Amino acid sequence: MVQLQKPKLVYMGGKLRSWDEAMLHVGCEAVTRGLNVFEGVKGYWQPDGRFGIVRLLQHYERLCRSARLLHIPFDHSYDEYIRVIHNLIRELLEPDRDMWARTTLYVTEGHWGENTVADLIVTAYHQDKQPPESINLGVSTWRRSVDVSLPARIKTSTNYQVARLARIEGRAQGCQDMVLLNQWGRVAEATGSCVLIVRDGVIYTPPATEGALESITLDIVEALSHSLGIKFIRRPVDRTELLVADEIAICGTLAEVTLIKAIEGLPLAEGKSILAALQTRYLQAVRGIDPHPFVELSYLQT
Ligand code: PMP
Repeated sequence: MVQLQKPKLVYMGGKLRSWDEAMLHVGCEAVTRGLNVFEGVKGYWQPDGRFGIVRLLQHYERLCRSARLLHIPFDHSYDEYIRVIHNLIRELLEPDRDMWARTTLYVTEGHWGENTVADLIVTAYHQDKQPPESINLGVSTWRRSVDVSLPARIKTSTNYQVARLARIEGRAQGCQDMVLLNQWGRVAEATGSCVLIVRDGVIYTPPATEGALESITLDIVEALSHSLGIKFIRRPVDRTELLVADEIAICGTLAEVTLIKAIEGLPLAEGKSILAALQTRYLQAVRGIDPHPFVELSYLQT
């Protein structure tokens, strides 16, 4: 069974508090309607002993966009956002373990969009340093919701109900993650990451307009692919293209670049491959072993 970490401190209500103290009221919209928007950000130890968080500005900007789309007020400047995350991570950081932080705007006051008040709450969790293990991927019978009902572009927890159902479905089939198709039956994304396929040496991925989150990692892997001389094309991807792809991977802040062993039970060739090379390049860039100008890091001031 998955054991969730309970870090000793959480940032809530403008200050650091103990884990047990970090409570939301049962009456608030964050609880009754699951109303929040969030970002997951990842930080890595660097070879020079510094700790760097990947493309934090882009996460802040996406959080602002999600909040705007759901009419949730968010008046923190980027500098305040950085300060809050850095302060919490500094308190929790352990040598040799990376960290993933969730920065969430929970709606604590208001009703049906009136008098909305939100609190920025940050939780941070330790991450082991091994590269992600390859996984089995399936295609869910659940669909990504459409842009006119619950847009994938908004990073809100309610969007993840379908992802949860897909994962439950996948577990029974031995799949650690599942692809969600969009309303046209084409690939949208995986439950918490974007999908990359390789055909004849070219990487393809569906654009956000196919029902995927506007992924920050996808922009990174696109830049890295170009640097590696690999063609990278954003265009719709059919379901059957997944099944005949030479290689598949999923990518995201937490998933990094995770290679796929089998799709719908059909094994994929493992070993030396384009996506394995991309995975290595990604990890070298975020870990500062082989920095890349596109992989900007926000360094913790110690
Ligand atoms: N799609 C979904 C549904 C996700 O939850 C994530 C993870 N944030 C992604 C895609 C990848 O986005 P990013 O690269 O910005 O982490």
